[in-house]
Amino acid sequence: MSLADRLVRPDLKDLPPVDLAGAPIPGTIRLDANENPYEPLAGGPTINRYPDPQPAPLRARMADLYGCQPDQLWVTRGSDDAIDLLCRAFLRPGEDRIVVVEPTFSAYAQFARIQGAKVDAARLTDDYVFDEQAVLDVCKQGIAPKLLFLCTPNNPTATPIDPDAVRRIAAALPDTLVIADEAYGEFADTTSLALEVGGNMVVLRTLSKAYGLAGARIGCAIADPEIIDWLARVSPPYPLPTPSIDAAMKALAPERMPVHQARIEKLLADRTGLAQQLRGVDEVRALYEGGSYLFLIVADPQDLARRLAAAGVKVRFRPNAAPGGVRVSIGTDAENRALLAVFGISAERPQGRRAAITRDTGETAIVVEVDLDADDPKRRIDTGIGFYDHMLDQIAGHGGFGLTLACTGDTHIDGHHSIEDVALALGEALDAAVGDRKGIGRFGFALPMDETSAEVLIDLSGRPFAKFDGDFSDEKVGDFPTQMTPHVFRSLADSMRAAIHVRVKGDNDHHKVEACFKAFGRALRQGLATAGGGGVPSTKGVL
Ligand SMILES: *Cc1c(COP(=O)(O)O)cnc(C)c1O
Repeated sequence: MSLADRLVRPDLKDLPPVDLAGAPIPGTIRLDANENPYEPLAGGPTINRYPDPQPAPLRARMADLYGCQPDQLWVTRGSDDAIDLLCRAFLRPGEDRIVVVEPTFSAYAQFARIQGAKVDAARLTDDYVFDEQAVLDVCKQGIAPKLLFLCTPNNPTATPIDPDAVRRIAAALPDTLVIADEAYGEFADTTSLALEVGGNMVVLRTLSKAYGLAGARIGCAIADPEIIDWLARVSPPYPLPTPSIDAAMKALAPERMPVHQARIEKLLADRTGLAQQLRGVDEVRALYEGGSYLFLIVADPQDLARRLAAAGVKVRFRPNAAPGGVRVSIGTDAENRALLAVFGISAERPQGRRAAITRDTGETAIVVEVDLDADDPKRRIDTGIGFYDHMLDQIAGHGGFGLTLACTGDTHIDGHHSIEDVALALGEALDAAVGDRKGIGRFGFALPMDETSAEVLIDLSGRPFAKFDGDFSDEKVGDFPTQMTPHVFRSLADSMRAAIHVRVKGDNDHHKVEACFKAFGRALRQGLATAGGGGVPSTKGVL
């Protein structure tokens, strides 16, 4: 008998699979599900039809993301739902038990108790370190627990669990499903156990935290296919809403991944920064960092609660984890500043002006994120057109801002669409990031480059206008068509709502194109600095 069959509730063995209309076959007339045949009056996707209960493309994409096979993964309504499905499939009321490692995420005990199972708890050490032996001791006292939940890094204490410890525990408990909840795995430096699920090891992942889709409710369980089959059997009929499936497919599109990566890195850097500052605060008795949050032990939680309420900042008090225990999520720059202010720390850092734009058309799929006030601006640019990447790098490098930009486009036809759409998206992102444009005016930069000279004038007036004075004799530099240069500045002018004048003279087309982009970046740097980058907007008001 397989492990799954041995551990599953025996009373479920003759449970029939959920009776569904089945996934739609394209081109068939669908009169099988009592759906309403008319367009929904809600706009957006076709939600008058039932969704695919387990959409193969999403299953495949998530399997690829986590490094497992599609039949090892079951997509759930958030990983909360995966916890519930495990409890429903494996726990008999009044007979079975689970083990958790307190203090931890409350959903494990909650769903087990709803199912009528007993919950036993091991504990982290007093200093919140994972105690492998303590966990094994609790598991080995009495009947084997059906499920052991290990949250790594642990919510709320940030405790990491060494993957080797999880492997050893799984080997020591052959009659227990050992479930590693890696909800914050993207923020951890340990490798994911999803790569080696099988036997009695199960991994939970979610798109709620690292991928910013908490509202879509998409997560998954990763396990041996026989365990997955049982989760499928106890799943509700159509668990995943169509808009959530669409959102997940969009957010996980390959060109979106560099922005996710950049955001994870920013959250990690901000976590370190916040931790450093808060460690210096008297009332903070202890501080642990992990995932996308901090766990603090404060001297007087009531007093802190009053000050937080007055500042309109919400955090999670965790008195059951520790007297004075507080879990704090890492927020945006402005949100983190508000938190620090409650602890009496005023930030000297300028405003965190950032904006992200996604732009999908028939020809291109683009994501751009700009960070105008980054301490250490990073640039990752991939448009599929090498020379253009280099030019955009010049704009961000000379402009002094962080830029993550990726485009999947029809470059097999030519670069035209990608070049123009990227310029539009970049302009839009810059426009959104500079905000209300208080105190912004006109800027210019002239740049000699060997025999070439380029001059760029920018007026961030809100009125788009583009003028390009110059011409090129070569058709291409690298893989970039020179005739696209004026188009790029026109697109930027349109989407940034700026007047942009470019004048370029010289003999070498490579120099001429490059000089335009460099000078544009330099002129932009002046504009961005004046637009509040130094924290001193002028009094001229809105232009
Ligand atoms: C947030 C969280 C989850 C649940 O996330 P979903 O939004 O349900 O996917 C699961 N486990 C832990 C430890 C969490 O912090």
